[in-house]
Order: sequence, then structure tokens, then C-alpha cells
Amino acid sequence: MSFTLLIHGGAGNITPAIMNAQQEAEYTEGLKEALDKGYEVLAGGGSALDAVVAAISTMEDNPLFNAGRGSVFTKKGLNEMDASLMNGKDLAAGAVAGVRNIKNPIVLTREVMLHSGHVMLSGSGATEFALSHGFELAPDEYFFNRSRYDQWLEIRDTNFTQLDHKGDNLKGAPLPNPGNKFGTVGAVACDAEGNLAAGTSTGGMTNKRFGRIGDSPVIGAGTYANNATCAISCTGHGEFFLRAVVAHDISCLMEYKNLSLQEACNVVVKDKLVKMGGEGGLIAVDAHNNYDFCFNSAGMYRGMRNSEGKEVVAYYGK
Ligand code: ASP
Repeated sequence: MSFTLLIHGGAGNITPAIMNAQQEAEYTEGLKEALDKGYEVLAGGGSALDAVVAAISTMEDNPLFNAGRGSVFTKKGLNEMDASLMNGKDLAAGAVAGVRNIKNPIVLTREVMLHSGHVMLSGSGATEFALSHGFELAPDEYFFNRSRYDQWLEIRDTNFTQLDHKGDNLKGAPLPNPGNKFGTVGAVACDAEGNLAAGTSTGGMTNKRFGRIGDSPVIGAGTYANNATCAISCTGHGEFFLRAVVAHDISCLMEYKNLSLQEACNVVVKDKLVKMGGEGGLIAVDAHNNYDFCFNSAGMYRGMRNSEGKEVVAYYGK
């Protein structure tokens, strides 16, 4: 039986000019490691949901990516993380927003989905739930990352809010330190039974306002999965992805207008979002193992591994 796994590590101003050989090697290794972890689950007959959690938690543990351990710093110099997970088989979903000191927010989203009776928990309520379900809190030092801290120090006294992977800011003026690009992480999978799942995890944006929530934990915006259509995980300028309800819009174009996966992705990412000024991209798969990497930014850290023995790891534009 066929199965497919796709991952992303953020979209943005990712070009050969800003990457050296060592960085390329590190990203290749980080992406391959996550692909392998998720692939093992699928090859062993595991579910798309478990594969997505395995791939994302591997990237959350890797400081290279803006999620879990490598999360960026907020205006207050803290790490506040957002994540979500959705199962295409039954439309079950779990999400956490603005959580602190949780090593693997994506694992907590699965717990929320399965055992909270709710879809989304935020802040201290999510922490309380985590503690009562056996999660241990990691100290602030676990999330400390020199390059991300310096990235924040440069703009903390300004009103700039920097996308981790973007070389400029939300107002369009140049940032002091353009060219930093790490990224939000996500995974989508189609398992051997044709079930789909999607997940996304992020530290959000450097210098973001206390309590700011992006698209990543919002079901329908940053993440969506439905066996009848597709599984989607987004990355990019969250405010636009929220307003365009990107992930669900793609599903709707497939469901109501019979567009193919790729046609639907192109309409939303390369037309609608571009017209709004929303930069970013997404990964997508459908229940027939068709897949797409779709982005309107210069690049996107991304990877794919499937049961046909095909493997892709790439960063730059097509
Ligand atoms: N979409 C994320 C947010 O706005 C950022 C990203 O994808 O890098 O929080």
C-alpha cells in the first residue's frame, strides 16, 4: 500500500545567497532526520497522525527550527509557542496557543485532541492540562538560543515584529539584521489506509506582542486535514493566513469546485494570498498520495519521502 510524508521547516527569503555549505548540510540533516522518523511510522503500518507527530517533534527538538526548543523570543523576551494537529479520518483536532516551557507542543496537541474534550487550550490553562496529564515543564534555559536571542535584542526596543525566516518586517522597512531565516515546522501524511493528517508547530514571530496568536494553531487557517480532500500545513505571515483561512479554503476548492490538490493550492497561495500581500507557503497531500509543495516566497525548507522510494529535500524556489 502507498503512503506519503511531507514536511516543511518554514518559508521565506531563502536563497543560495544567504546559505553557506555548512547551513545547507545542517538543514539537510535536520529535514532528513524528521522525514526518517515519520517514514518509520508509516512503513511500520502506523497512522498518518502518529507519523506527523513523530516528524514534527523531531524538528521541535532541533534548535535549527523555530518551534519547540528553537522558538523565537517575544517582546517580553519569552518563548510562546503555538501548535495544532488534525486527523483527516474523523476531523478530530487539537491545538495549543501561547504555551510556555512545553518541550513538544505537538505532543500536547494530541493529548488535547484525545483527552480534553476541547479543541484548543491556551496559556496557563494549557499548562495546567499538560501537568495534569504527565507532561514535565522544561526550564527557560532549554529554549535559550544565542542567535535567536540576538535577533530579538536587535529589535526589542522597536515596534518591529520579525518573521523568523523573513529578511524584512511587517511594515516593509529594512530590519537591522536581515537574512535570518529559520522556521515554523509542519508535516502532512497519507498512510497506507488512505487516512490523512496534518500538524504545525511554531514559536511565531520574533518580538511578537504578548499573547499574539498566529495561524499555526488555528484549525482551518494553518492546519487542516480531511480524508475527503487533503491535509495541509502552512508557514508564512500568519495574519494573512488567518484572514485567508488558507488550509480550509484549499479543502473547500477541492470539495465544492472539484479542483485537484495542485490547482487548489495554486489558487490560494499564488493568487489569493499574493493579491493580499501574504507571503509564505504550505505542504499538501491528498488521499491518493498526490502531493504539492506550494509557496510564493523565495524558498521553503521542505522534504518528502514516500513508499515508492522517492525522497526530496529542498530549500530554494522551483
Ligand atoms: N505562520 C507563523 C506565524 O505567523 C510563522 C511562520 O510560519 O514562520 O506565527
